[in-house]
Amino acid sequence: MQIDEQEWKEMLKNRYQGYIGFGISMKEHTSLGIGGRTDVFITPEDPLSVRNVLSLLQKKNIPFMALGRGSNILVRDNGIDGVVISLSTFNRIEVLKEGNSAVELFVEAGVPLQKLVNFCKEQGYSGIEGLTGIPGSVGGAICGNAGSFGCEMKDVIVSVAIMDRDGRLDRYKGEGLGFSYRYSDILKTDIVLSANLKLKRDEKEQVTGRTDQFFIEKKMTQPISNRSAGCVFKNPDGNSAGRLIEEAGCKGMRMGDIEVSTVHANYFVNKGEGTATDYRALMEQVASAVQTRFNVMLEPEIQLVGRS
Ligand SMILES: Cc1cc2nc3c(=O)[nH]c(=O)nc-3n(C[C@H](O)[C@H](O)[C@H](O)COP(=O)(O)OP(=O)(O)OC[C@H]3O[C@@H](n4cnc5c(N)ncnc54)[C@H](O)[C@@H]3O)c2cc1C
Repeated sequence: MQIDEQEWKEMLKNRYQGYIGFGISMKEHTSLGIGGRTDVFITPEDPLSVRNVLSLLQKKNIPFMALGRGSNILVRDNGIDGVVISLSTFNRIEVLKEGNSAVELFVEAGVPLQKLVNFCKEQGYSGIEGLTGIPGSVGGAICGNAGSFGCEMKDVIVSVAIMDRDGRLDRYKGEGLGFSYRYSDILKTDIVLSANLKLKRDEKEQVTGRTDQFFIEKKMTQPISNRSAGCVFKNPDGNSAGRLIEEAGCKGMRMGDIEVSTVHANYFVNKGEGTATDYRALMEQVASAVQTRFNVMLEPEIQLVGRS
């Protein structure tokens, strides 16, 4: 990288609050436990620190990426060029308005989705019960419009606060962010800082009952206690990627320590010391088997990041 540790510390002195680490292994920061080292890993503690870092990166032409809880990315074995900006300290949930039938929440991007799901259970707020068991952050769930059991993140978004690569902070209405199946128009160079979410008020027992029932179903049908990055491929229109992979005979297929889950074929699990190289090779093999058998081209849902 263009600047060394000492220079970093010097340049950010008095302009940055938070942790800065150098040569950090991404294995510790991804649900798959895979990935090489990133040059720099930072956890800024406030928006001003994010802005000051972005301005420095812009000046020095250094690449960066935002990180939630690393549960939808495959980091290459050669690591990441530049800076990973973790939002993990942006962890606040606040009630903004509460009426008889609806409530508006302010939620920071680093809040684990499960913390939000549990908060809603405890308060009797309905709308995200189906997102139970998804191990990402609120920021990651917004960027990829996470969804499950017919419930999608976009359904509860009022607005999202986004800082662009130049450090400009704007609030965007949910409708303007182009949400669709596992997609939003949010750029790779944008940093989501927070969102306002609208939920319906309901009986606590009802919200808890639905959430717990979805969690039981998720536990029965998906390998949620294994190391994975969730679904590897998007579901093709009107079809299930998991079913196609299973019927193409790929369940249990293995490349090194990466295995096509025997529980749900659209999950690849890391059984030990799996690598990104193995994971990608398995993706190619599986996609090719599905293409041959069904003439369907599977599109990745997980995001591949890092130096090739
Ligand atoms: C066991 C398991 C089950 C899962 N089940 C589901 C499911 O049912 N439905 C589903 O949709 N997904 C599921 N996933 C996938 C994953 O948890 C979701 O996609 C989740 O929303 C990703 O959030 P994250 O914080 O981990 O994002 P990351 O993996 O950290 O990042 C994903 C992308 O979002 C960007 N990003 C993250 N945070 C920010 C931010 N604050 N600002 C700007 N960009 C940001 C990153 O740069 C990256 O491009 C599952 C994963 C696992 C491991």
